[in-house]
Amino acid sequence: MTTPVYIEIAVPTPLRQGFTYAIATAAGELDFGDGENDEGTPFSGTPLPGTPLPGTRFYIQFGRQKLVGIMLRTVSTPDLPAHKIRAVIRQLDATPVFPVSIVTLCRWAAEYYHHPVGEVFSSALPRLLRDGQPLETSERILTLGENPATIQRAPRQTALQSLLQANPDGLTLPQLAAAGFNAGTTKALVERGNASWSERTIKFTDFSPGVSVTHQPEIQLNAEQAHVVASINQGPTGTWLLDGITGSGKTEVYFRTIETVLEKGNQALVLVPEIGLTPQTVNRFRARFNLPIVVLHSGLSDRERLDGFRAASNGSAAIIIGTRSAIFTPMKNPGLIVIDEEHDASFKQQEGFRYSARDLAVMRGHLESIPVILGSATPSLETYQNVAAGKYRRLALTERAGGALPANYQVLGIRNEVLQDGFSARLIKLIGEHLSSNSQVLVFLNRRGFSPTLLCHECGWLAECRRCDARLTYHHTLRALLCHHCGIQDPVPSRCPTCQSTQLVPLGAGTQRIEGALQQLFPDQSIIRIDRDTTRKKGAFNDIMEQLGDQQPAILVGTQLLAKGHHFPNVTLVAIVDMDSGFYSADFKATERMGQLLLQVGGRAGREQKPGTVALQTHFPDQPILRTLIHEGYRVFAEQLLTERQVNDLPPFAHHTLLRAESSNKADAMQFLAGLQQQLKPNSAVSVLGPVPANMERRAGRFRAQLLFSASNRRDLHYSIEACLQLIDDNPPRRHVRWSLDVDPIDLF
Ligand code: ADP
Ligand code: ZN
Ligand code: ZN
Repeated sequence: MTTPVYIEIAVPTPLRQGFTYAIATAAGELDFGDGENDEGTPFSGTPLPGTPLPGTRFYIQFGRQKLVGIMLRTVSTPDLPAHKIRAVIRQLDATPVFPVSIVTLCRWAAEYYHHPVGEVFSSALPRLLRDGQPLETSERILTLGENPATIQRAPRQTALQSLLQANPDGLTLPQLAAAGFNAGTTKALVERGNASWSERTIKFTDFSPGVSVTHQPEIQLNAEQAHVVASINQGPTGTWLLDGITGSGKTEVYFRTIETVLEKGNQALVLVPEIGLTPQTVNRFRARFNLPIVVLHSGLSDRERLDGFRAASNGSAAIIIGTRSAIFTPMKNPGLIVIDEEHDASFKQQEGFRYSARDLAVMRGHLESIPVILGSATPSLETYQNVAAGKYRRLALTERAGGALPANYQVLGIRNEVLQDGFSARLIKLIGEHLSSNSQVLVFLNRRGFSPTLLCHECGWLAECRRCDARLTYHHTLRALLCHHCGIQDPVPSRCPTCQSTQLVPLGAGTQRIEGALQQLFPDQSIIRIDRDTTRKKGAFNDIMEQLGDQQPAILVGTQLLAKGHHFPNVTLVAIVDMDSGFYSADFKATERMGQLLLQVGGRAGREQKPGTVALQTHFPDQPILRTLIHEGYRVFAEQLLTERQVNDLPPFAHHTLLRAESSNKADAMQFLAGLQQQLKPNSAVSVLGPVPANMERRAGRFRAQLLFSASNRRDLHYSIEACLQLIDDNPPRRHVRWSLDVDPIDLF
């Protein structure tokens, strides 16, 4: 009799812990004495040659369910008595589905985001692997029998037999067909007992760099690019910020650094924003590299996703391009991770397990000792701060590589102007001028992610909190102004406190009708809408791009989607109808986001001969931060914002975690959070702000509220959240109250 080996398994349940199970190794069978482990025993699988490795999947009994879990580690002394520990039902993998680095990454993420470890692994695994399907694929092969009898008067069978004799490893059905043998012949030979079918695991080989990793690069690097490429290729591992203006040739830098990695036989993982993953991007990679490329995005079938995962993990894929969740894709020979448009909000998962793929990439690079490149024309403030703190190294590209001209910005003040559905007379005129010179115009709508405040259209007064350095949020349903920092609530004034005007408008109102308004203003123009609805269908975006390629004048109307990744060469004017709803949102991150957006849309328009114009309507044409952005550039703009954040003790100088709750009954979510707030031990290092109703308090019939934890030290914040989760565990909310945690939220509303 031998002692069993204990392992900790991540089980897909909402419990924030791993579970101990017992396994048998080749050394012996399990013995459970009193047989309490009814369903989990006896061990029924092939005895294992040794202790399995972390990342191996096991089929286990969990309560009344049978589930697929992932091994985290071996446990030397379990904290349960042996007879209480169940045996696993079966080991599913001979080799782990995740290497140690990804197991460590997931465990780290579970800690950092306070998320159940089993659910973290579920997000990391393709569905078919979660369901227990094998990672390896097998194929049927025909091999020669042991003592084949001699065949007479059947020339095809004789021929097949000699073919099998010459191929002792066997032949697959397609190979047999290619050699000219039909099903009848193989069947006859098998029935005769001279050959038999069997299953064989398909062996994959690493992609081989060979002679030509790339299809000839035709581009000569400029001096800046050459310096950047050399720094990364020869430099130490670690995280690099590639801070390069739009069109400065960042993609070319990715190509050259990837090339170096591939030549060594290593793989590269490239993450792009959700919508950036269009054929345009992927085609550029395919046109450049002469090696297998795997693409992972939300539109794949489960089977395709598994195939991609497999090709990455068995080393046969050279490059893996994917969106957010691809950060968990294992690589057999990791060489480099690239995060393109690192500032993009789509790298943050906004529901369930709320992780930042960008931040996990940095961690993964560290665990796998490979370089990570964060590329952007408009880096996030937290990334700049990480550069300032010496954690990342910055490399800059300051010139346009292709020779196109930078856009020019026209600021149109609209305070006290008569607006026609949001359009000023000057903007209407400008749009008309561009259309009549046969250009296309892009009208930008600011739809998502900005929280409105109240503004006086006549004098520019903005509703601000009496107690905090923050703007109040306009709550339409409450007919009230709310501070999301201190929770104060004021009624909506009927007149402007400064000029007594009654023209008080929530920012962002009035943009609802833009498309209809354009139709009326320019009845003869074709108006093309680009948003999630019109581009959802496969290939829809390409159809639109084709339609736009023919140089006809047209008006495009679109949201944030337009700012990402695409170039519109025939667009010469980008009109931003309502810039203020972005700049003057109550959300402290709004200015950063709006600045990024202004530069990104500017970079999408115009071409070498025809520079683009960006026209912005604003109530505050003299706003210093806007002037800084336009005249001094993004970097100075970002530095000013960082100073403001530091003064106000906001991220990245403080760290935030948001506890959200929702309930079908209006009072319950607020009461649940208020209760926690009261029970938490006061801690001078952590402020717990709120609770306040969420900006859109009622959604889908449920009421939402939130509690904001803020601390300048992550460790303090971490312990405070742990304490709070303990309180929730000890005293769970009533069933209809649902809650969730968001560590490093990208918006507070
Ligand atoms: P980014 O990714 O920084 O926006 P791209 O890599 O897309 O910029 O480059 C913009 C354009 O400039 C592309 O058409 C690219 O082929 C071209 N380009 C990049 N580097 C060079 C170079 N060294 N010489 C000439 N053209 C270049
Ligand atoms: Zn006023
Ligand atoms: Zn306040």
